[in-house]
Amino acid sequence: MRIVLLGAPGSGKGTQAHRLAERSGIPQISTGDLLRAAVTRGSGLGLAAKEAMEGGRLVDDALVLGMIRERLAEPDARAGFILDGFPRNLVQAAELDGLLGELKQPLDAVVQFEVDREELMRRISGRRTCADCGRVFNVLTSPPPSGAAAICPKTGAAHRLVQRADDNEATVAERLRVYEEKTRPLIAFYQSRGLLRVIDAAGEVDAVTQRLARALGLAARAGRNRRARPAVRRAVRAKAAARVVKGRRAATRGAARRKPAGKKPPPRRAPKTRRGAAPKRGGTRRRGRR
Ligand SMILES: [Zn+2]
Repeated sequence: MRIVLLGAPGSGKGTQAHRLAERSGIPQISTGDLLRAAVTRGSGLGLAAKEAMEGGRLVDDALVLGMIRERLAEPDARAGFILDGFPRNLVQAAELDGLLGELKQPLDAVVQFEVDREELMRRISGRRTCADCGRVFNVLTSPPPSGAAAICPKTGAAHRLVQRADDNEATVAERLRVYEEKTRPLIAFYQSRGLLRVIDAAGEVDAVTQRLARALGLAARAGRNRRARPAVRRAVRAKAAARVVKGRRAATRGAARRKPAGKKPPPRRAPKTRRGAAPKRGGTRRRGRR
């Protein structure tokens, strides 16, 4: 499985990439982590990146692509990868296309995380990162756990929470602006290649994890829904798609048109009522929420 997760800063794609990597056993590849690791190792690329960052410049596309190329050549990436935070603009997307073409490892899917702007602002300003292990928490939406889970795997003590320099309110608006300008065009880029899937990334982390799994066709493997009737699953998917489409309005109206399957109503076949219990409609609803 070779996938790209797309989403604004604060959309939760990092958290979901981490969960997906644990579940599927394929590596999460984040350019932020690669940069930090390269700087620590003192590799040629790392030194160049460090120089750019210390000079207050953005790390350029060629440098980032070089790191991605190196990383994808590592053995664990042969089974697939989850790209998180890359590509960030059309140049990088085209370069990635070329690189994966060379490797004969084309992408399987690109998932766009949709969250509205106010929610993004709120999430980013609450974000705290452990200075030791790099785990990300949010004092508003996912505070650090207490008890044994609060122990940092790196130090064996409590996580040392810091606010990243670029997570303060002053820079959040600017990062969102850059995202809109540079990264949002990737939605159309991947849509035209038939790779794009959109999920509603607002709300509970667990719910988003399930939506992501469904978008990638992994839901059945989760076990929970294994016995759900296909008609019910289709209904749930159609509902989720309708919700997303409604929220995205004009910008993606074309997408909705090109994806008629998502809007198709579930077939009207009468499902087998188990133990003749709940009325059909109510039963569907309850399942849908799990
Ligand atoms: Zn930690």
